[in-house]
Amino acid sequence: MTEINLQSPLPPAVLATDLDGTLIPLPEVEENRRDLRELTRLLRAHRRLLVFATGRSVLSMEEAIATHGLPHPDWAVCDVGTTLHRFVGRGEDAAERYERHLEELSGGVDGAEVEEALAGMAGVQMQDPGAQRRFKVSYYCEAERVGAVEREAAERCAARDLPYEALTSVDPFSGVGLLDFVPHGVSKAHALVWLATHADFHPGEVIYAGDSGNDLAALIAGFRAIVVGNAREELRAEVQRDLVEKGRGERFFGSRGLATSGVLEGCRHYGLFPDGSGAEHE
Ligand SMILES: [Mg+2]
Repeated sequence: MTEINLQSPLPPAVLATDLDGTLIPLPEVEENRRDLRELTRLLRAHRRLLVFATGRSVLSMEEAIATHGLPHPDWAVCDVGTTLHRFVGRGEDAAERYERHLEELSGGVDGAEVEEALAGMAGVQMQDPGAQRRFKVSYYCEAERVGAVEREAAERCAARDLPYEALTSVDPFSGVGLLDFVPHGVSKAHALVWLATHADFHPGEVIYAGDSGNDLAALIAGFRAIVVGNAREELRAEVQRDLVEKGRGERFFGSRGLATSGVLEGCRHYGLFPDGSGAEHE
């Protein structure tokens, strides 16, 4: 369910984007702040939908919006795809339906059961209570131990027949390993594809922008992909190779611009703002 079939391509109308390293301006890049204002203006002027897809909780996302002056999204996929939020109009239905969808996927098994299974495991430390969700249990570990911890956790979950798996990453700022246990198959891409088939837009209208491994599945799901300039070369090459192999090479764009500037560059490349506009300022 993390891939979409696009029989009849539609013009782009929705920007879905990762936050950290992608939409959020990098502190050392002055151009990013200017391009954030321009991107915000263009999204409003052209009435484009905006979707955030982030590992952050909704509270942490709200903090980022306030701190960096980000535009408010119409929808947000938070907690690495385990929660869905609507900010404009009526969306409670979709958010609740998504929770029911996760209930079905997990066979009704909550993250608390994973927490029990991993109790006493060496080398992991639970993240703050604010990081835990009904369908997500999150831990820290040493970056070099992520693989070993993931294997042991998988064995413990399998022994109890818990349909969960770990999404792993390393915090680029602190260098700490992060493990999020979620129901099998759940990811930012999974939530986005679900949203795009249950909300008020179509998957074929979506552009997805990202910068790191946890964006890979969404970048190759069939949306128009933007890999920003600060992404690792391996990620850029993998996304391009995958899309070209599927005959969707035109759905790959590797930005020269970093983070926010790369997102704006990609949106222009795909024609999200027709007329090549951008010259008029409010
Ligand atoms: Mg990122």
